[in-house]
Amino acid sequence: MAVDVVVVGSVNLDQVIEVAALPVPGETVQGGPIIRLGGGKGANQAVAAARLGCSVALVGAVGTDADSAQLRAELVAESVDVSRLAAVEGPPGHAVVLVDRQAENVVVVSPGANARLDSDTVQAAGDLIAAASVVVAQLEVPLPAVLAAARLASATFVLNPAPAPAELPDELWPLVDVLVPNRTELARLCGVPDSGLRAPGEVARLAAGLPCERVVVTLGADGALVRDGARTELIAAPTVRAVDTTGAGDTFCGALAVALAEGRNLADAARFAVRAAALSVEQTGARTAMPTRARLAAAGELVQDAR
Ligand code: ATP
Repeated sequence: MAVDVVVVGSVNLDQVIEVAALPVPGETVQGGPIIRLGGGKGANQAVAAARLGCSVALVGAVGTDADSAQLRAELVAESVDVSRLAAVEGPPGHAVVLVDRQAENVVVVSPGANARLDSDTVQAAGDLIAAASVVVAQLEVPLPAVLAAARLASATFVLNPAPAPAELPDELWPLVDVLVPNRTELARLCGVPDSGLRAPGEVARLAAGLPCERVVVTLGADGALVRDGARTELIAAPTVRAVDTTGAGDTFCGALAVALAEGRNLADAARFAVRAAALSVEQTGARTAMPTRARLAAAGELVQDAR
């Protein structure tokens, strides 16, 4: 059966430990209890889209252990179709996250099964991918898998180039319908230092130089900048009480996919995503904070477009 949105990406088990201060090399520190959370950009974006009311399938890979079974079950509970989630021998992807009292963190990712998502597995989901209104991928899985998804997508292919790549292969660029980088990823793709990228005007100039006509740059509390051909628009984020921005980018990408699948134009879709992502920073945790369609509607006034 066709689904609105197919996400091709990673599934991780995040293990978060709170520490008073992040350790320096060679140091051992005591931390709090291990908090285990479902994560991974692919799985998070699939959950974000499903919460907003789209039918969603996730193409990816987990392992064969109990952690993998748990990750799969959590996705099913979120109404994400996991029928094309491969099980490869060994553990799933893990992310070990240390967070200090200032909310600074260090993260180590062990890709596990994500590293073994190959183009054949993606190809096997070709029927779903070709029939989807929107296909979304990130870069936490191998590039051949991303390329296979881009080639199979027949409607809109959205690439969130995260984690920031040094460059994208030439053959991928013409297949990307909408690119959704944050400032760091934009800087990396443009080959400029990240630090010089504060002003939206500068962001717009860089986005205009990318070999992709439709770009949405996420700008944290500044909202998002949309380049749609010759038009550029800055969409301000509503003012909210930001508690934890973890997963804001994933909420944004999932929401953008939903809005595009519903037929909105790029600027309107970005407006929808800005509102959804604003709600996601009001609570701790990546997935816990992702809004449902009902919460987004109920938030109404609060998350009206900031003008
Ligand atoms: P993360 O890695 O923390 O998930 P990111 O770096 O991929 O995020 P950001 O640009 O920081 O992406 O945030 C994504 C979107 O979330 C922004 O475009 C904005 O719409 C929303 N957002 C983030 N921070 C805030 C904030 N403080 N207030 C309102 N909206 C925010």
